[in-house]
Amino acid sequence: MRYLPSALERAMEQFEKLPGIGPKTAERFVLYLMKRSKEEVSEFAKALIDLKNEIHLCPQCFNFADNENELCGICTDPKRDHAMVCVVAESSDVVALEHTSEYRGVYHVLGGTLSPIHGITPDRIRIQQLMSRIEASTPGEIILALNPDIDGEATSLYLSRLLKGRSFRLTHLARGLPMGSDLDYADEITLTNALTNRRDIA
Ligand SMILES: [Zn+2]
Repeated sequence: MRYLPSALERAMEQFEKLPGIGPKTAERFVLYLMKRSKEEVSEFAKALIDLKNEIHLCPQCFNFADNENELCGICTDPKRDHAMVCVVAESSDVVALEHTSEYRGVYHVLGGTLSPIHGITPDRIRIQQLMSRIEASTPGEIILALNPDIDGEATSLYLSRLLKGRSFRLTHLARGLPMGSDLDYADEITLTNALTNRRDIA
């Protein structure tokens, strides 16, 4: 039964698509926005549209980059250690690791993890790009920082087989992250410890 103007319902439906947002919260967001000025709501909408208009994937690490520059802020930062490459599944993991303020290297965002059940094979994530990057500029260390879940472990294992026995140090995050958890949900102390106590892959 339709009881609200359709624009309200449409907006609620959009909010409901966001992770962790149920109908009640979606309703609250929309009713809140109705109370704001037209300018404020336009600014809100513009911020969302700009996400897709002003950002691209960095061609080196595949993290988000501002359209004003080709490479992202991390890849262009001279204060970072460019010989240390941390391999993560998603950009949200970069955000999580940056929150620790512990990591000073650069990243490689795979864009997912291997998952045979879901048809995610090595060619579906950015493994080839990682290999090309390694060939082009040999790193000093590669840290595998995948989620401690089945797909993350499978990806880590695949990559360690691929990268083992080369001239660089190959490490993975220390245990301590709860199995089945997400890096981006781990608290900063846990993540900092996992990074500081990272282990060499034999
Ligand atoms: Zn980058």
